[in-house]
Amino acid sequence: MKKIPLSASGPVMKDYTCSVTPTWCEGCGNYGIWTALKTALVELKLQPHQVLLCYDVGCHGNMSDKMLGYRIHGLHGRVIPLAAGAKLANPRLPVIAVGGDGASFSEGVGHLVHAIRSNYPITLLMHNNANYGLTTGQASALTKKGERMNSSPNGIPEETLNSMDFVFSLKPTFVARAFSGNVPQMVQIMKAAILHRGFAYVDILQACPSYNHFATQEWLEEHCYSVQDGKKKYDTSDFDLARKTAVDTGKKIATGILYQGKDVPDFIERLQPRKNVKTTPVEEVAITDISRWMERFI
Ligand code: SF4
Ligand code: MG
Repeated sequence: MKKIPLSASGPVMKDYTCSVTPTWCEGCGNYGIWTALKTALVELKLQPHQVLLCYDVGCHGNMSDKMLGYRIHGLHGRVIPLAAGAKLANPRLPVIAVGGDGASFSEGVGHLVHAIRSNYPITLLMHNNANYGLTTGQASALTKKGERMNSSPNGIPEETLNSMDFVFSLKPTFVARAFSGNVPQMVQIMKAAILHRGFAYVDILQACPSYNHFATQEWLEEHCYSVQDGKKKYDTSDFDLARKTAVDTGKKIATGILYQGKDVPDFIERLQPRKNVKTTPVEEVAITDISRWMERFI
C-alpha cells in the first residue's frame, strides 16, 4: 500500500523549481504536465526529498533536470522496472514513473504488462503525444494509421494500437486519461493516482505541435470531455462501463478518473515473506554487516 509521509509544513512551488530552463518546443504539452505534477506534489504536501521521480527517455524525460527532488533518468523503455525496483526497496517512498507512448508501447511494453498484472504500487504518467518526439517525429504504436511521419513519408501502414483497450485487457486497478491543456484536471488525477493503492495508469493526451498534426491542442480541446463533469454521477468502480467509455473515442474522448478498484491488494501486500515485517529492504541492508563478504575483495 502506498503510505505517504506527510510533512508538517507543506512545500511550495519554488521548492520544486530549479534554475535549468526547459527546452521543449513552443506550445508543447510538457509545460502543462510539468506544472501539474509540481502542483500535485505540493498539494499532497510532499517535500522534494519525500518522492522519487523516475524518467524514461523522450521529450518528457527532459523534465528530469527541470525540477528539484530525487530523480533518476533511466534507459529507454525501462522506466517501469526502475520505478518498481525502487518501490520494492523502499515501500514508504511514493514513486512516480514518467514515460512516453513510444517506449511504453514498444520497447517497454512488456514491463507495462507486468506492472499492471502485478499491481505494483507506483504511478505511471504516460505522455501520449502519439509519436517519438525526441528523435524528430517517427511513428509510435499509437500514431494514427495513414499519417505521414518522419521515416514514414507514405503514411503509416500499421494499425494503431488502442492504448486503453490494451490496458483494460490486463485488469488494471486505476486508469485515468488527461489532456495536457487542462492543468487543474491533471492535478486532481495525479493526486488520486499517487494515493492509489496499486498501479495507477495515467494516459495524458499531450499536444506536440512539432510532429503531431492530427491531435493538435485545438483538436484535443474540442474533443475531450471529463466524465467527472457530467450531469449523471460517473461510477469509477464500474469496470465494464469504464472500459467502454475509455475505448470509444469515435466522436468524443473521455477524460478524468475512468476506473478505480480500491480493494485489490498491491504487489508488496501479496508477498508472503514480507507479511508482518516492519522494516524496509533498504533499512535491512543498512543494518546488515557485510564485512565478512567484502573481505575477499579487499
Ligand atoms: Fe514537445 Fe513535441 Fe517538441 Fe517534443 S517534439 S518538445 S513533445 S512539441
Ligand atoms: Mg511520444
